[in-house]
Amino acid sequence: MGLADKVCLVTGGSKGIGKEICLQLAKEKACVIVNYLSDENKAAQVVSEIEAMGRKAMMYKADVSNFDAVSKMVDDIVDKFGRIDVLVNNAGITKDGLIVRMKEEDWDRVIDINLKGIFNTSKACVKYMIKQKKGRIINISSIVGIYGNVGQVNYAASKAGIIGFTKSLAKELGSRGITVNAVAPGFIKTDMTASLIEKHEDIVSRIPLKRLGSPQDVANLVTFLASEKAEYITGQLIAIDGGMTL
Ligand code: NAP
Repeated sequence: MGLADKVCLVTGGSKGIGKEICLQLAKEKACVIVNYLSDENKAAQVVSEIEAMGRKAMMYKADVSNFDAVSKMVDDIVDKFGRIDVLVNNAGITKDGLIVRMKEEDWDRVIDINLKGIFNTSKACVKYMIKQKKGRIINISSIVGIYGNVGQVNYAASKAGIIGFTKSLAKELGSRGITVNAVAPGFIKTDMTASLIEKHEDIVSRIPLKRLGSPQDVANLVTFLASEKAEYITGQLIAIDGGMTL
C-alpha cells in the first residue's frame, strides 16, 4: 500500500478505533505515533504490540485541544523521525444530554477536543507536509454529524464541523500534494458506544448488514485512505455504517 516507513500520527490511538488504526498502519510497515490523553498503560500496550511486529512506534501524551501541546508534539515527532506523512484525527469524546440540561462546559469540552483538536493537529502538521509536497490527513467524523441525534447537539455540531473543515482544507491543500478526507462511522463497538448499545438493543435490526461495526472495519478504510492507492481521492466523506443511513 506504499505505507512502509511512513511516519503516521494517530490521535486517540490508545484504544477503540484509534488503536486498531495504529495496528493496521503498523501491519503495513508504517512507523506509528500513538497519541493519548489519560490512559498511559493502554497506549504503552499499543506500542508494545507494534514493536512486536518489528515496526517503530512511540507513545505521546498530549491533549489535542491544547494548541501549544499539539504544536510541541508534532515538532518533537519531526525532530525524532524527520518527517510527518499521515495524520489521523481520531481523538474524540461525547458528553451527551438534552440541550435543556447540557452544561456550557459539556458543549465547550466536546467542541474543543473533537473540532478545535483537528485544527490544532492539522495546522501543526501542514507546515511540514507543505515542505514535503506530500501528506495525508484523515478525519474521523460520524453519521451523527450528517443526520443529527437527540441528546448530542454538541457532538453532532463537532462532527458536522469536521465535514466542512475537511472539504475546505482539501481545496486549500490539493495543489500541495496533500489529500484530506473524512470518514463517518455508524455504530462501532467500542467503550464510547457500550452504554448506548446496551440501552438500544434494536440498533442491529436497523442496519442492513445486520451487525455493529468493528474498529477493524473503520481501520481498513482509514488505512486505504492513508495509502498510495488513495492518491486521487480528496475532500470526501465516506460513511462506514453497514448501510444504516441508506
Ligand atoms: P474511545 O474508545 O472512547 O477512544 C477515544 C480515544 O480518544 C482514546 O484513545 C482517548 O485517549 C482519546 N482522547 C480522548 N480525549 C483526548 C484528548 N483530549 N486528547 C488526546 N486524546 C484524547 O472512542 P472510539 O469509539 O474509539 O472513537 C474514536 C473516534 O471515532 C472518535 O472521534 C469518535 O467520535 C468517532 N466515532 C466513533 C463511533 C463509534 O461508534 N464508536 C461512531 C462514529 C464516530 P485516553 O483514553 O488516553 O484519554
